[in-house]
Amino acid sequence: MRSDGMFIAVEVDDDIARDPTIAARLAEACPVDIFATGEGGLQIVAENLDECVLCRLCIDAVARRDAVEGQNAVEGKDGVYGQDGVDGRDGVERRETPGVRVMKLYDAGALLA
Ligand code: SF4
Repeated sequence: MRSDGMFIAVEVDDDIARDPTIAARLAEACPVDIFATGEGGLQIVAENLDECVLCRLCIDAVARRDAVEGQNAVEGKDGVYGQDGVDGRDGVERRETPGVRVMKLYDAGALLA
């Protein structure tokens, strides 16, 4: 699924969007409520897209899921967004292409990396 604002677009792989656990994690992670959960799974709240602060928490939330599936994750003390998932020092493997992509439309669609 993809939704475009004026300055920011967000794209989420379908398998991510259908996973209720990761959908809830994305909804909790985003500080400006770009993600929400509903009966159909993950929803992108289009009216909030341009509030994105480029924090990467959504990308890291998905990376943590991938790592858990690979049995090599170190969960943060809170089990959600510990710093271990942000700085790469925990050995978390990340997808070449994250399951969530944040695109800067004001910068020719450059991906938030
Ligand atoms: S980078 Fe992701 S989590 Fe951060 S504000 Fe933008 S959409 Fe939300």
